[in-house]
Amino acid sequence: MAKNKAKLIIFTGPSGVGKGTMLADFFKRVNNKIVYSVSCTTRAPRDGEINGMHYFFISKNEFEQMIQEDEFLEHACYSGNYYGTNKKFVDEKISQGKSVLLEIELQGALQVMEKRPDAVTIFIKPPTFDELENRLRGRHTETEEAIQKRLEAAKEELKNADKFHYTIENDVIEKAVDELIEIYNKETN
Ligand code: 5GP
Repeated sequence: MAKNKAKLIIFTGPSGVGKGTMLADFFKRVNNKIVYSVSCTTRAPRDGEINGMHYFFISKNEFEQMIQEDEFLEHACYSGNYYGTNKKFVDEKISQGKSVLLEIELQGALQVMEKRPDAVTIFIKPPTFDELENRLRGRHTETEEAIQKRLEAAKEELKNADKFHYTIENDVIEKAVDELIEIYNKETN
């Protein structure tokens, strides 16, 4: 049987593009040789979000302490909140032969690309900007102010899509996940 190569995979795309839905499908369909990196954030949990599963929800003070102690592989302030990737978790999993998927926004993705040039980088884009706005509004999880901030960030993110190894358009979800699995298999086998 082919041996899996452990890779660090950066998965980025504007808020509302459907990254969470794609990943829920992806993780149901792939082997257990890849794990999701649970980030730390200072944003408040949404309804149904579980601490330690979706994020580690921590205070701004705790986050700043972790920055001081160099615990993040990358971190960024996005839409008024901090988000960061736990370096120790990533390194442990990779050394155990597991691939690790980071679902992170653009600033963090660029930091990881600098530090880990061997990372596989994937950008998810919407069919159109209007469709992105519809999806973001349709999920009813943000205030109008937060939606505006996220749409602003999205414009910047979309301009940087060509810095990634792979771009997937999330129009039909099944097709987008098929493409993601194809990339994963190609990169890790
Ligand atoms: P949300 O608040 O919608 O869960 O996430 C907002 C954005 O932050 C998304 O684009 C998500 O991918 C990104 N994000 C989640 N975790 C991290 C992280 O650890 N680092 C960075 N840089 N971005 C993250």
